[in-house]
Amino acid sequence: MKHYESLEGARWQKRRRMNHHEANAFFVGVMLDQGQDLERAWDAGRHFCSRFDSESNLWNQVASTPLGSLRRISRVGFDEGEDSYWQGAYACRNVNKFPNWIKASAKLILEKYDGDARRIWNGTRAKDVGELYDRFREFPGIGDALAKMAQFILVRDYGVGGGEKNKSKMRVKPDVHVRRVTYRIGLTTQMRPEPVADEIEALGLDSPADFDWAILDIGRNFCKKTLPLCAECPIVPTCQKQGVA
Ligand code: SF4
Repeated sequence: MKHYESLEGARWQKRRRMNHHEANAFFVGVMLDQGQDLERAWDAGRHFCSRFDSESNLWNQVASTPLGSLRRISRVGFDEGEDSYWQGAYACRNVNKFPNWIKASAKLILEKYDGDARRIWNGTRAKDVGELYDRFREFPGIGDALAKMAQFILVRDYGVGGGEKNKSKMRVKPDVHVRRVTYRIGLTTQMRPEPVADEIEALGLDSPADFDWAILDIGRNFCKKTLPLCAECPIVPTCQKQGVA
């Protein structure tokens, strides 16, 4: 965890509020974080939101944009050129599903949250922090792992729902990196998501989600699928399979 605590953004924050732009980009970024790096998903979220006229009215505009136009944007970008988030830096991996997801989400945000994405999480009480997860799960395209991730980021980075006092309630998101590393270091016995989540849960960690993100960083930067960088890995002294992964 020492390595993790040294990373930028790994600290628990006090209550912070997002403006419209940040909240909209966060929501779209969560939806786009499927099969691509988180940083790219955030970039794509910001890019998508910035291309609409008024971000305080974003969801009305998305809801009223014809599905065919959203499909075209998803496929080739706004200008069919360099700014495409399907091609290059903003690559949208769910090019066929994203238009339906974002349009349905826009309608839900308008109907249930008065067109303000911040209302998805604002007002969440500490004792109801689990409701955050439930609210994200209502949106199409946001499954178990993404809802856990959104919940964790909001609680850790923005102090939503009681912030740090609820860190023990944040559940893990055992993505492919986490499953690979925990298996290699001998903490888990298999690679399937649900058993891995159960095995990590059984460790009785003080903050399971912090552990999850620490392992995720190891997986992305050192414990690669092929050719793991054991010589540079910060947990090499405690790893059972160093050099033989
Ligand atoms: S020491 Fe090697 S095998 Fe172990 S976690 Fe680090 S990179 Fe992976």
